[in-house]
Amino acid sequence: MPDERIYMDNHATTRVDPRVVDAMLPYFTELYGNPGSVSHSFGSEAMEAVDRARASLAAAVGASPREIIFTSGATESNNLAIRGVTERQRRRGDHLISVVTEHKAVLDPLERLGRRGFEVSLLEVAGAGSPQMGILDPQQVSDAIRDDTVLVSVMLANNEVGAIHPLAEVGRICKEQGVLLHCDATQAVGKMNVNVEALQVDLMSFSSHKLYGPKGVGALYVRRRQPHVRLQSQIDGGGQEGGLRSGTLNVPGIVGFARAVELCLDELPSERARLAALRQRLYDGLRNRVEKLTLNGPVLDPLDFRLPGNLNLSFADVDGEALMMKMRQLAVSSGSACTSANPEPSHVLRALGIDEDLVRASLRFGLGRFNTEEDVDVAIETVATAVERLRRLGQSSQKLELASKMAVTLSEKAASEVKRIIEEQKLDDGTVLRVGVAGGGCSGFQYSLGFDKEYDEKTDAKYDWHGVTMVVDKKSALYLDGTVVDFYDGLEKRGFTFENPNATKSCGCGSSFSA
Ligand code: PMP
Repeated sequence: MPDERIYMDNHATTRVDPRVVDAMLPYFTELYGNPGSVSHSFGSEAMEAVDRARASLAAAVGASPREIIFTSGATESNNLAIRGVTERQRRRGDHLISVVTEHKAVLDPLERLGRRGFEVSLLEVAGAGSPQMGILDPQQVSDAIRDDTVLVSVMLANNEVGAIHPLAEVGRICKEQGVLLHCDATQAVGKMNVNVEALQVDLMSFSSHKLYGPKGVGALYVRRRQPHVRLQSQIDGGGQEGGLRSGTLNVPGIVGFARAVELCLDELPSERARLAALRQRLYDGLRNRVEKLTLNGPVLDPLDFRLPGNLNLSFADVDGEALMMKMRQLAVSSGSACTSANPEPSHVLRALGIDEDLVRASLRFGLGRFNTEEDVDVAIETVATAVERLRRLGQSSQKLELASKMAVTLSEKAASEVKRIIEEQKLDDGTVLRVGVAGGGCSGFQYSLGFDKEYDEKTDAKYDWHGVTMVVDKKSALYLDGTVVDFYDGLEKRGFTFENPNATKSCGCGSSFSA
């Protein structure tokens, strides 16, 4: 069956390019040696492949091969850089500088260091209303550096609004002040020219799965000359990667990573222009069709303010999660909670000074290599129709309560089973049945059903069915709109069942679903 879904979430991850898969395949079944076992040809072949990949990746970012450390991805690279520098160089000081809009893989290690006595200064970026919304003014770095500053960490391109920071200028300032600079370039490598010398960075993280390579492999660039940056390893064992990152190397992943970067660089100028044109088509099309739409992040032109495939928009009076529910064929992500494991709405959009309602009403489009004009046209139609429908239904965040009040039904059979349990277990008079959706992310939801003594009419929808009070928190109600909770009493199985019209797939046991 042809896949009619459209993937526009290329900041989250990308499809592996078939040419990358081809390059990787021999390293699973024929050239499967451990590159650490160089005493035989299986090992030395693998080692040679790793060496070639390392040289190619190093050249792609202007580094020398010895300066590339392979990791499992950018999260690990960021952790190794930040913890590695601070643990090794604490005597130089305990002040760190970064930016409010960094990825959690930078902010969380910094926060942990904050609890261990480091002082962390988080710099603000240009706010809503500025054409450079989301971009850092390098003067701020200069002002924030102190005698005891050990590390500055600034990303190159932001994963939510695509804002590109003036890293070369930040690099110049850090060099002048003799402070180490780490850069999370995860969203930038393969999408724009990135050169560690031009940017004057000392440490740089990047990751394969953001650039059409496989997941689970990334790299950290660690400068070896002027200065020779010294790090404390975070994973100890066999001493691979110069002792900085022990563990058997992921040879197929590394080979694929290097091939993926080569392909990106080969196609860079034409692909940037193509993505920028697709993005403009998407933006113009949506602007023509949808009223009250605002752009989050920097202006689209000039191209050096923003990643060419990124578009982040807010649709006033619409809840981002409700919107995504209405567009199951279109994979984008939302600034409201449901797209990440983190229950908080986007810290990036909040930091730009965007209204909480508009943060919740935001969608991030990440265009990529496999998107076509046709995809864009379908996306425009899909989003415009869904926004119109939701606005017509009045299913805005303010009116969720009204919508959820009509949503979830308890059958008579299920209600009598609930009453039976309440009686049997001698539960309190005020006991209510709480129904919800647990787990994070937008696929792989788990139904939950239990008893509760408390509920809050502000955050919960309340229903009275056949003498049972049932409550559903309003977030869950969105996913459960139209659901009937029933009770099945068969020969082999007994239990509550969920008939949910929003589920695209349900697992065999009936307790979880995808939406
Ligand atoms: N930094 C940035 C800017 C990112 O976008 C991501 C991925 N969302 C990461 C770090 C983490 O990368 P990885 O998935 O390779 O650990």
